[in-house]
Amino acid sequence: IHTGHWCVHYRPDLEARYVRRLTITTELKRALASKQNELSMVYQPKIDVQTMKVCSMEALIRWNNANLGFIPPDEFITIAEQAGLIEQVTTWVMNQTISDLAYFRQQGYEFTVAMNLSTQDIQNKKLLDKLVRILAGAGLSPASLELEITESDLVADASLAIENLSSLTAQGFHFAIDDFGTGYSSLAYLKNLPVKTIKIDKSFILALANDKDDQQIVRAVLGLATAFDLKVVAEGVEDKDSLAMLQQWGCDVVQGYYISRPLARSNLEEWLHSSPY
Ligand code: C2E
Ligand code: CA
Ligand code: CA
Ligand code: CA
Repeated sequence: IHTGHWCVHYRPDLEARYVRRLTITTELKRALASKQNELSMVYQPKIDVQTMKVCSMEALIRWNNANLGFIPPDEFITIAEQAGLIEQVTTWVMNQTISDLAYFRQQGYEFTVAMNLSTQDIQNKKLLDKLVRILAGAGLSPASLELEITESDLVADASLAIENLSSLTAQGFHFAIDDFGTGYSSLAYLKNLPVKTIKIDKSFILALANDKDDQQIVRAVLGLATAFDLKVVAEGVEDKDSLAMLQQWGCDVVQGYYISRPLARSNLEEWLHSSPY
């Protein structure tokens, strides 16, 4: 009786979510196969706090669909993982990002480019081998690319992920732990992994200037990270006061709307010419 009630009550909602998921899956398959530019990459600058100059650009995917409009990456990346499409999405991201990286080098820019990998990617040896091949094919060294992975990729039963991580690190790739602070891993745990950079999750940074709890957390992370010899990036820096605090507490790199929103390649070049960074 209870079950019946539950079904009647929630069905329309579940159905709407199911239909959206199915539509996204179908449209994403089509977008990956088509030659039109539905998918694109945007780049968000990261600033070295010491020099206040650009040291890196994070590559972020964008998807604009004729029927669905703008679909946030958080939403469609999750669906792509569940639908078995993430390898194709990441392959698209790798090709586009490395081609843009080669272009930036041609233009004389020396910043690195950071690419996001999903949980499944870091377990996928074939895909990671492809990354190495594409990069070599473009004549670029592994040191010019950073790979951002989340804590959860390495915490649970992840021996394969750690094996792949170690192998890529030995070839000269650099990894950063994304969304640090939102999962269960500790800095003590990371100490045993070939990871030299953490990105403090933006949930601790967005309101930093006005939130005493966030200030405590961020100072504690920065203190420990120094002790463990880790480089710290703060993402989600939206105002001057937060930036000043991070500077004062020894944060290495900052990223956020205060510096710049993520930009398409052509807009990025304009920004690079006119910004003080
Ligand atoms: P993320 O890797 O943690 O990326 C940071 C997110 O914070 C980006 O959202 C960025 O636009 C946003 N952001 C940066 N600065 C600020 C700020 O000052 N304020 C606020 N409110 N937000 C800021 P975006 O682009 O929507 O990406 C969301 C997530 O989707 C990413 O989180 C990442 O997990 C995933 N994602 C994006 N692109 C890719 C990709 O190419 N591959 C994979 N696997 N995942 C991706
Ligand atoms: Ca990231
Ligand atoms: Ca994050
Ligand atoms: Ca994220």
